[in-house]
Amino acid sequence: MYYRKEVAEAFEELATGPGGLAPEEARSRLEKYGPNSFKTGKEFDILATIIHQFTDPLIYILIIAAVFTALLGHWIDTYVIMAVVFLNAIIGFSQEYKAEKAISALISMAAPRATVVRGNRTVEVDSQDLVPGDIVLLASGAKVPADLRLFETTRLEINESALTGESLGVRKDNMPLQTDSPALGEARNTAFMGTLVLSGRGKGIVVATGRETQLGRISEEVAALESAPTPLQVQLAKMSRKIGVAILGVSVFAVFLGILLGRSFVHMLLTGIALAVGAIPEGLPIVVTITLAVGVKRMAVRSAIVRRLPAVETLGSTTVIASDKTGTLTKNEMTVQKIFTGYREYQVTGAGFTPTGEIVPKSGNKNEPGQDIALQMCLRAGMLANESSLELNPESGKYKPQGDPTEVSLIVSALKGGLREDLESGHFPKIDEIPFESDRLYMATMHKDIVKDGIIVFVKGAPDRVIGMCNKAMDDQGESVELNHDALLEAYQNMGRDGLRVLAMAYARLPGAHASLEPEMLENDLTFIGLQGMVDPPREEAFAAVKQAKKAGVRVIMVTGDHHITAVAIARQLGIIDNERTPVITGKELEMMSDEELFEQVGKANVFSRVAPLQKLRIVQQLIRRGEVVAVTGDGVNDTPALKAAHIGVAMGRTGTDAAKETSAMVITNDNFASIFEAVKEGRVVFANIRKVTLFLLSTGLGQIILILATLILFLPLPLLPAQILWMNLVTNGLQDISLGFEPGEKGIVDQPPRHPDEPVISRLMIERLLVIGVVLAAGTLATFVWQLNMGADINKARTVALTTMVLYQLFNVFNSRSETQSIFQMNIMSNPFLFYSIIASTMAQLAIIYLPPLQFIFRTTALNLLDWAVILPTALTVVAAVEIDKALRRGRRDLPELAPAEN
Ligand code: ADP
Ligand code: MG
Repeated sequence: MYYRKEVAEAFEELATGPGGLAPEEARSRLEKYGPNSFKTGKEFDILATIIHQFTDPLIYILIIAAVFTALLGHWIDTYVIMAVVFLNAIIGFSQEYKAEKAISALISMAAPRATVVRGNRTVEVDSQDLVPGDIVLLASGAKVPADLRLFETTRLEINESALTGESLGVRKDNMPLQTDSPALGEARNTAFMGTLVLSGRGKGIVVATGRETQLGRISEEVAALESAPTPLQVQLAKMSRKIGVAILGVSVFAVFLGILLGRSFVHMLLTGIALAVGAIPEGLPIVVTITLAVGVKRMAVRSAIVRRLPAVETLGSTTVIASDKTGTLTKNEMTVQKIFTGYREYQVTGAGFTPTGEIVPKSGNKNEPGQDIALQMCLRAGMLANESSLELNPESGKYKPQGDPTEVSLIVSALKGGLREDLESGHFPKIDEIPFESDRLYMATMHKDIVKDGIIVFVKGAPDRVIGMCNKAMDDQGESVELNHDALLEAYQNMGRDGLRVLAMAYARLPGAHASLEPEMLENDLTFIGLQGMVDPPREEAFAAVKQAKKAGVRVIMVTGDHHITAVAIARQLGIIDNERTPVITGKELEMMSDEELFEQVGKANVFSRVAPLQKLRIVQQLIRRGEVVAVTGDGVNDTPALKAAHIGVAMGRTGTDAAKETSAMVITNDNFASIFEAVKEGRVVFANIRKVTLFLLSTGLGQIILILATLILFLPLPLLPAQILWMNLVTNGLQDISLGFEPGEKGIVDQPPRHPDEPVISRLMIERLLVIGVVLAAGTLATFVWQLNMGADINKARTVALTTMVLYQLFNVFNSRSETQSIFQMNIMSNPFLFYSIIASTMAQLAIIYLPPLQFIFRTTALNLLDWAVILPTALTVVAAVEIDKALRRGRRDLPELAPAEN
């Protein structure tokens, strides 16, 4: 086993080295060992899903109806009802299956990746593709992608609770163990798959992948996807249960009423069944699932991968987006523009990651940049205290950045200043380092100085932090001079005011020999060597997105680790704050505040600067206390509490760590603020569409109930047979309610304030509209039915006319349902092609049962003539007229303030 082996032996055994496997070798090993994965516990359960299709109160009612029709000897109805039950199950199953597959495909898009060294280059690969012998790099927040024998560690601390249940972090190192079979918690030189890096850095050799890992052996990992029903689905299920009970009540009542009125028992039983069957919104659960899945797909197109289905709904009611600055609101394409050594000031020309440009002294400086020793030290610190790299591809002549853009820009500025990476690292071989963590605000590296023979430490980090650790500065001749803290901080702030992101560099020479670097060694004896200010322009899309968000009543808050002057400069450019009076809270101030004070402040302040990750949690908590629905972004392992606490945790796809992604409801693949807002918009569309579908479905049912009750009271024969009702509910209407789930979303959807999360699906407007439509549908259908009977038509003919009237009614009514307030004449029919085709399909289907003999036999329909059509068509159009009038009245009555854009 590898526990006991020295690093060199382990390398040998696995035929690898610090430079990693050659890419071809990795490929052939992948074939030999198979992918680095094992079946996760939660798979799509086919049987459960099938059973699930039948365990619905509405389906029970249908089955009871089938039994009754069979008892009455109405076999055709029995068959039709049973066919419907099975059809419903098949559609339901395939939709659920598809939705599940689509969502898990999306999730695997956000699947974990690992940073490996292959062929001497650092690359990112899918964790699935790891093979034994691969060299894996670990950084804080990473999920360990395979079992690794560690050979290099820097303060590496790993949380192994996934395996051992121990919730404290474990310090790792690379020393061989004394035993071959340690307890999991004692294997300090091994990092196990599935555990989480809390802090530090490490390098390890993959010794086991997939099922061979400890995790693969002992457990089946819980899949990330929660497929439990969403709150909305629960609410709708409750609603349809209520509707079911109500329908049963009404049906039973109608049956007794009819018998009291002297109708035959058989007739009344049929009527009761027709009522029940007609009113049940059979399609509702399926359509809701489809609508949610459509939303998830649309969000994915906009680079927002939803990891938890309920997020789709919650997103639409988001009232606050608390966003990172660097990389989310800004481009994170850094270019150093200004350097200030404390003694001299320089401008840097050129842009981007190509190191062509010059460092030119600001007017008045006579010295050549090459002769300014402080400048050279400052550039050197930026280059060496650095975890990123910039590689020149000799073939294409292009530079390939790897790592944090902030750091890459420092390499670029050093190259522009004439430093050479190979010479520098030859001069100063690295001994140890303190990696950058957001809580610490700096990083440091310790090197041997070959020329001067001694030990030197370079530090770079947030200026306020680093300047505080310095007690002297350096002039251009390299002489030690006095340090003026205030002057430096002022220079720093001036740079920040221009929107520059500023890092400070410092160094120290340590007497004697040292093998490891500790933070205490750096506390206050550093020599300041310079500030480097880099531009990080706001993303172009962010301007519009922030503006739209405000219009949509969604507040945008910037929560950044950066300094407050830089934060304010960017926030002002983007319009996140628009006047001097808007308070800006710094992490220091926040630290002093009680929860009560913070509660007050989060109501007003839109910028929080120098915020440590745990303070982010407090901000989120107080926002929630204020009743806000909060979406918050995060990337590091320390952000996970805030991501968890928020309604919508949003992890960054590029810079986000596995820890952040795993706790988030959503992952933004392009790290772009605009994508978050797009997802909010789509969330609103989903909810609106579910409302549209519900209104449409229930109005059909209500129309049918009123119609049947009316004929009962008027002593007329039953106007629609159960089979016919089912036909309408499931086939002709069914096609349309699904297509409503694909509605693109109305223009006004981003001009309204967010919906309150507790607001029920069925609003007052919907109830009122339901009644209007129900009455019109019933009255019109009753009219054509009575007309036919009075003309002496036989009952089958009269029913065919009634059925066709109702089908056409809904064909038109689907247009009404596309908007609650907008006139149908202002909508573009082709904006939802599904709807257009569904109308054609429904029409063809209806024509088929009217004119095709086998279908005529099943549904007891007869052919209609021209006169029939001439009456039915205008009758059906009355629903458009009625709803248009209702909409126009409401538009007129609407309170004006509600239309005005919400402030902020
Ligand atoms: P944000 O990305 O919101 O600006 P971070 O937590 O990433 O916040 O960074 C906080 C501060 O730490 C930055 O403003 C910068 O001063 C400093 N910093 C960021 N990255 C590094 C790094 N790689 N090395 C040293 N200091 C850094
Ligand atoms: Mg950052």
